[in-house]
Amino acid sequence: MSGKFSLRRLRSIKLKIFILLIVFSIVPLVILRYGILMNFINHEIDTKTIEITSQSKLLATHIASTGYLDDPTSEVINAELSQLSNLYGGRVMIVDKSYTIIKDIYQMDEGKVITSRAVVESFDGVVNSFYDPEYMYIGLTVPIIDIETSKPYGVLIVNVSSESTMEDRDYYAAQADLIMIIVIIVDFCLALFFSQLLVYPINKLRRKLNERRHGIIDEELHVTGSYETEVLCEEINGVFKNMKTLDESRQEFVSNVSHELKTPITSMKVLADSLLADENTPAELYREFMQDIAQEIDRESQIINDLLSLVKMDKQNPELNIKQVNINELLEVILKRIKPIAEKADVDLILESFRPVTADIDEVKMSLAISNLVENAVKYNKEGGFVKVTLNADHQYFYLTVEDNGMGIPEDSLDHVFERFYRVDKSHSREIGGTGLGLAITKSSIVMHKGAIKVASTLGEGTTFSVRVPLIYIA
Ligand code: ADP
Repeated sequence: MSGKFSLRRLRSIKLKIFILLIVFSIVPLVILRYGILMNFINHEIDTKTIEITSQSKLLATHIASTGYLDDPTSEVINAELSQLSNLYGGRVMIVDKSYTIIKDIYQMDEGKVITSRAVVESFDGVVNSFYDPEYMYIGLTVPIIDIETSKPYGVLIVNVSSESTMEDRDYYAAQADLIMIIVIIVDFCLALFFSQLLVYPINKLRRKLNERRHGIIDEELHVTGSYETEVLCEEINGVFKNMKTLDESRQEFVSNVSHELKTPITSMKVLADSLLADENTPAELYREFMQDIAQEIDRESQIINDLLSLVKMDKQNPELNIKQVNINELLEVILKRIKPIAEKADVDLILESFRPVTADIDEVKMSLAISNLVENAVKYNKEGGFVKVTLNADHQYFYLTVEDNGMGIPEDSLDHVFERFYRVDKSHSREIGGTGLGLAITKSSIVMHKGAIKVASTLGEGTTFSVRVPLIYIA
């Protein structure tokens, strides 16, 4: 558990912000340190090289003018050589045209022959300078040009140590390191502070959510401090609101169901009690009461059936048994079944279909939806009225209308007729066997088929339900 916990911690935004701040402040610092020191060395070496080269060139001209190569005893030149050596802490040598060292300020290699590439090149008039970082010295070979022939006849070799430059560099490096350590410590504190500051609104939001989860607070969430958390709060509040509405509608549904299921039972209980109360109930009354009880049982089972249909269609992933169905035939079957009821109510049933239609539907669920519409149109009709069912289609949808010239629906009820248990006139609906679930079932079924349903009605004149369903079902 603790291992998992620490691993999760590694993914925290705070840590990421902290690392980012550290990286973005320290990396440039380190690059700067090395860049500046490197530039410092290069600059120092270049300056020194230029300086020594110009001094050496002057000296080479002086050597040539005094004929030192033929007679290396000149006190003046020797003094100048020593001065150059002392000034830069380096070794100065002179090579004559036979590549022999005729003067070495350190007196170590006099008489020896030197044929290094730099010396050979200088006999061709080239001034060579190079820097050896390994042995830390600047090397220089300057041709000594014969005044008469204007040709090199000797070479002045100067090797100067760059140790003092390195010492300077080490000094500055130590200074830079000290500054870096101070900056890193300050950076560390600032990064800690800012990472804490940046995640503060998130942590606050988390705390508030936690309090809400445990029922400590019930108000809307408002966490200011960052745009993101403000927006997040608005979204969360939206979700809470949806959940609340959902919970309320669930509670309302449960209380409606209980009430609806209880009503027939209460009636049956009253009927049974009154039969039991009087031992000498006449047989006709007995029969009449028993008929009422049977009716209440039918009603109870009707409600249960409707509820089951509704629950099936309300599921998150409803099972649809999609098949290609001839809609014209389906309508004929439905109307044939309802015809006796319509005749009994003296309502004319008309089917008008504009073209043959086949569509991918769940036959049972679609039948239920259409039956409910037609049955309602008959139920809420008047003597001598009509119910007209029309069917049409285009390349995408089929369109069904169920029109009647019955009692109509009041305008303020139009928005509610698809709600569960909603009935315009409770007692009338109950009288004619309504449960208030029919249109809710119809709407669920149509929506499951990715279709749409709407209603238009004028009170006292009639009602039209219009349905649109795709011909091809795409899950
Ligand atoms: P019920 O089982 O009560 O018929 P429904 O959900 O099928 O429940 O319908 C809800 C209410 O809508 C009905 O109680 C009725 O008042 C009204 N209604 C439905 N269809 C029609 C219609 N064709 N004409 C008039 N009123 C209708």
